[in-house]
Parts: sequence; C-alpha cells; structure tokens
Amino acid sequence: MLFGAIEAGGTKFVCAVGNEDGQVIERATFPTTTPDETMNRVFGFFDQYDIQAMGIGSFGPIDVNPQSQTYGYIKNTPKPSWSNFDFVGAVKSKYNIPVGWTTDVNAAALSEATKGAGAGLNSVLYLTVGTGIGGGAIVNGQFLEGYGHPEMGHIMMQPHPNDAFRGACPFHGNCLEGMAAGPTIEARLNKKGHEVEAGHEVWDFMAFYLAQALYTYTVVLRPDIIILGGGVMKSGHFLPKVKAQLAERIAGYVEIPPIDRYIQLPALGDDTGVTGGLLLAIKEYRKAG
Ligand code: ZN
Repeated sequence: MLFGAIEAGGTKFVCAVGNEDGQVIERATFPTTTPDETMNRVFGFFDQYDIQAMGIGSFGPIDVNPQSQTYGYIKNTPKPSWSNFDFVGAVKSKYNIPVGWTTDVNAAALSEATKGAGAGLNSVLYLTVGTGIGGGAIVNGQFLEGYGHPEMGHIMMQPHPNDAFRGACPFHGNCLEGMAAGPTIEARLNKKGHEVEAGHEVWDFMAFYLAQALYTYTVVLRPDIIILGGGVMKSGHFLPKVKAQLAERIAGYVEIPPIDRYIQLPALGDDTGVTGGLLLAIKEYRKAG
C-alpha cells in the first residue's frame, strides 16, 4: 500500500511516496514558484502512483483549525501568490483521498517522535533554525495546537549586551527569528553563514538567543527532548555553543536529561519532513477507514 507526503517549503517542495511503515520509496523536489506551476509538478509526480492518502507538512502560517471555514488553507504569507491558497482542497479535488494537514515543523516532530531521535518519548519538541525559525511539538502522540498552531520562532528576546543588531522580523524586530534565523547573519555582516568563521562573535550572539528560547520552551513544556533542525544547525561548531549556553542558563533550576541527550540533531536527516508527511497520511487513512 502506498502513501504520499508533501513537505511544502518556501523555497522548495519535497514530495515522497512511501509504504505503510512510513519508509520513503521515491522522492522528488521542485522549486516553490506559483501555486499553479508548483502543484502541476507535484501532481505530475503523484500521478505515477496509486496512493491511498496524503500527508502535508506546510510552511505557514496555515489554518489547522478543523472548525474554521478556511481549514487547509495557507494564510497570509510573505509569498503573495500563496496567500489564501486552499492546499488541502486542491489535493482532495485531484485525488479524492484522505489528507492529513499540519505545519512543516509538526510533521518533522511527528517523524522524529515516531522513528527518530525522540522515538519512545512522550514529549518531543522540534525546532527548525533556517531561513526562518519555527517549532512543533508532540505531546502524548498529539500535536500541540489549539485555535491555531504554535509560532515558537516569534517569542521576544532579551538582547545580548554586546549585540547592536536590532532584529529583522518585520512584525516584532527582536523576536527569536528576528535575531537568530539564518538571514540575520547576512543582515549583520553582509556575508553568508558558511563564510563566517567559527570563532566570530555572531555565533555567540545566535547561541545566546537560541539558548534563551530553549530555556523558555523547557520551563513552559518540560519536554523529554528538543531536536534542532534547519540549515543553520548544519554548521557543526554551532550546536556545542547552544548546549553550553543552555546548560548555563538552566543552572540547575529545573532538571533536564543529560544535555547531549536533551538537545539533538534530527536522526532522520533530510528525510525528517517527508517521513512525517507519510506518517500523517497513514494516520489519516486509518482514521478514515
Ligand atoms: Zn517575529
């Protein structure tokens, strides 16, 4: 039996077909252009398979409230042609199959909680640190959401005393995303992250903000594990800085697992997103059956 998964990102769409164990069998990647053009390519890929359900993890903000008129839509985004796109409706009208729908980070949290670094744990938080910052959490097998989905990248930051940068978020200035997402490196230094040496103070600033956020998530949610994905985390020297600053900030106030177990990179690597989509599709298929 085959299932489909879409990891819908602001720059690319990753599509995958997998089996009932959530194993990826085939995958394809397309650039995110207009909804029409992108979805035509997506459908061109899935048309080759007989899939029983689809799971979508999408960039946001999205409407995840089943009571809402616009459930399944992408809401107002900086990518204008995608604002108010009825994503779930488009997939359902094409294939008439059950469709699971959540945020890209919730999908990643689901796969890591099921088959990855958080397997067997009750409370798993996944945070991506890349072009933007977003978080998703699974608590006792359920997504943590309510009226909408969490916006963990937009908690406000206490500034680092030596950091003159005011923040890049158009809504909040110095929220976590505004201070520590990948593009803030270029906004500060006019260089890309991979061009900035490991000893540069900008990494200490970013680790300071990330550790501040992880401290907040820790005291609010008390998760078993926090998994850090996204392009910025691929700079190998950065994770140890974040762990050290977090340990210092917690300073024994609350108990956490040993830091190397508590803060981890995704175990499923680049398959984290689509694997979450497949698991979501399987869930939805069982619910419908
Ligand atoms: Zn913000």
